[in-house]
Amino acid sequence: MTTPETLIASSDPASKVNLLGLSRAQMEGFFSQLGEKRFRAEQVMKWIHHHGVRDFEQMTNLGRSLRERLEQVATIAPPEIADQQDSADGTRKWAIRVAGGALVEAVLIPEGDRATLCVSSQVGCSLDCKFCSTGKQGFQRDLTSAEIIGQVWLAIDSYDGWQSGKGRVVTNVVMMGMGEPLLNFDNVVAAMDLMTDDLAYGLSKRKVTLSTSGVVPALDQLAEFSDVSLAVSLHAPNDAVRDQIVPINRRYPIADLLASARRYIDAQPDKKRVVTIEYTLLAGVNDQPEHARELCELLEDYPCKINLIPFNDFPNSGFKRPSGNAVSRFWQVLVDAGFIVTVRTTRGDDIDAACGQLVGDVVDRTRRAARYRERYAASGVSAANMEELHH
Ligand code: SF4
Repeated sequence: MTTPETLIASSDPASKVNLLGLSRAQMEGFFSQLGEKRFRAEQVMKWIHHHGVRDFEQMTNLGRSLRERLEQVATIAPPEIADQQDSADGTRKWAIRVAGGALVEAVLIPEGDRATLCVSSQVGCSLDCKFCSTGKQGFQRDLTSAEIIGQVWLAIDSYDGWQSGKGRVVTNVVMMGMGEPLLNFDNVVAAMDLMTDDLAYGLSKRKVTLSTSGVVPALDQLAEFSDVSLAVSLHAPNDAVRDQIVPINRRYPIADLLASARRYIDAQPDKKRVVTIEYTLLAGVNDQPEHARELCELLEDYPCKINLIPFNDFPNSGFKRPSGNAVSRFWQVLVDAGFIVTVRTTRGDDIDAACGQLVGDVVDRTRRAARYRERYAASGVSAANMEELHH
């Protein structure tokens, strides 16, 4: 984890510290290295996360000399929006360009008085879950804490949501976008700290959810550093099926994963916590009544609620979405056994709904653009003409 002691080392003008991603403790460490009082951390965090200010000049409660010093050693740099799609149902999805040019996704899903932001933690993913569009893109790198919290910052900014009286743009965050959050532990923990910190986004720990596919050793450490809600991407009622669709299960099988998740919620002072079990329904793979009955046995007496997610198809996925009847049958078996079960309604149907798909499309367009460039370069057409042709 980045410690305050390590911050000054990276604060030379060539690589300024990005204050956007610093947790409160890190921000206090940063100001103490500048010889400033701790309350400066509080002032600057509020400017960044409450008011959306990126320019030190606008931080009017800081003296001129401090503003100039900050200009020299620090920056406030959210990632950039590369593409945005708005669905008729209000869902907004962004492809976000991070340092080095890679793309990740964030999605805001409004629902009544809630608005849930789904946030990415890595560029691509190494876990290769078989039904996942992101998994097919491979792993490129971890996101920094600034790039993770920057997705929250951008979502609010995109609605001009910094002004008071407009209501909250983001009421809930789920770490369920691209990547496995527990494989980017330090940066995810720092970003979740900011999500729940009153000096930043002030969300309750119940409204921030980390979703894991089952990195058990990291999950075993999480309670030491965080108290957010937990979701487990189970997707199967037994190891034989899960081994096929969630390869990390071969290392950390279901029994180990469920035991670790239980230890996490048992470690929380609030004893009413439950684990959200995510279960993507894949036609003919894990959606049969016998799978539902097996799931009931597996989760008997387990403190959980179950979220069923009918598969969102994407090109060349190799899987099919189950019929409405199959989903209902599955749901009924669980409900009859006394479980609390929700079925995720499909949102953003008219935009690229499956996680990782928008990035795939933007990358495709970028590759198309590169191909155009190569082709027209070879034929002597200028780059400017080529862009015109492309559009
Ligand atoms: S489902 Fe999550 S953990 Fe699995 S490959 Fe996709 S992004 Fe990675």
